[in-house]
Amino acid sequence: MTAPRIDTETLRRLPKAVLHDHLDGGLRPATVVELADAVGHTLPTTDPDALAAWYFEAANSGDLVRYIATFEHTLAVMQSREGLLRTAEEYVLDLAADGVVYAEVRYAPELMVNGGLALPEVVESVQEGLAAGMAKAAAAGTPVRVGTLLCGMRMFDRTKETADLAVAFRHAGVVGFDIAGAEDGFPPADHLAAFEHLRRENVPFTIHAGEAHGLPSIHQALQVCGAQRIGHGVRITDDIVDGKLGRLAGWVRDRRIALEMCPTSNLQTGAATSIAEHPITELKDLGFRVTLNTDNRLVSGTTMTREMSLLVQEAGWSVEDLRTVTVNALKSAFVPFDERRALIEDVVLPGYASAL
Ligand SMILES: [Zn+2]
Repeated sequence: MTAPRIDTETLRRLPKAVLHDHLDGGLRPATVVELADAVGHTLPTTDPDALAAWYFEAANSGDLVRYIATFEHTLAVMQSREGLLRTAEEYVLDLAADGVVYAEVRYAPELMVNGGLALPEVVESVQEGLAAGMAKAAAAGTPVRVGTLLCGMRMFDRTKETADLAVAFRHAGVVGFDIAGAEDGFPPADHLAAFEHLRRENVPFTIHAGEAHGLPSIHQALQVCGAQRIGHGVRITDDIVDGKLGRLAGWVRDRRIALEMCPTSNLQTGAATSIAEHPITELKDLGFRVTLNTDNRLVSGTTMTREMSLLVQEAGWSVEDLRTVTVNALKSAFVPFDERRALIEDVVLPGYASAL
């Protein structure tokens, strides 16, 4: 099958929805350079282009732990109110320029307190920056709705505190929760207190699982912790043999549990071997609720347009496939149903209809 080539500008204009993108993994290189200079943080290079290349190279190590280590330099410039306001605003503007109409941004407040900010001040600053970005994007005719997921770090013990924060800010822009960080050795059930609290409070959450670690991690995230979505989840394919689904894979597909898949990021951390063979295509064809995501735009040197382009060129995806994963993302988004339906019916479907 040869898919018709779709040019990059057409892809850029398509309405997109991203559920899995880290605030601290998506800074502009020039902003990192400028803010690092202001706070006296030493970078591997102070040339923005060379810094972008450095990130891509360091992230290409094939190891999740090394990949995560690159965040030292973005986090260094996100320890003040000014740094958070600016990076959050630019984050929104960059997504809007990429054709994104709905995004869930995630970050760990506990990693942004080294400059003396209290956890609630971190969240307030980020929300203010996001709101400024959304106002500017709307004024420029490219509106984007951004909801926030607060992440607890799975190797530390502040997840319950972060869950409390998500509950406290649920009417101020925070729409859910996640745990992030190195997966191996840090099972999600270590953080049951946080998840039980969120469930009691009716705050939805997703869990990074099935990226570095396999089926037990996905099973625990869903059946012990109660996650409504799975971050990555590529290893669910361990439970699929010749297109036949095992019990866990069947649960994930049949309960319509969204898999937040991030192809380029998975290549870099070794969770997948090529775009052509990335499980996202097989899972889409088997009817799973797959969604397409960037994970970390600076660190992975990517955008939603680039991820779409890679799937079209290397995995034979059609515009209809791209529409499917976009609608999937909105169906499983954590904002209220009426907002999701309005985005699907008034923005996404008309946007794809005019491109087809
Ligand atoms: Zn992630």
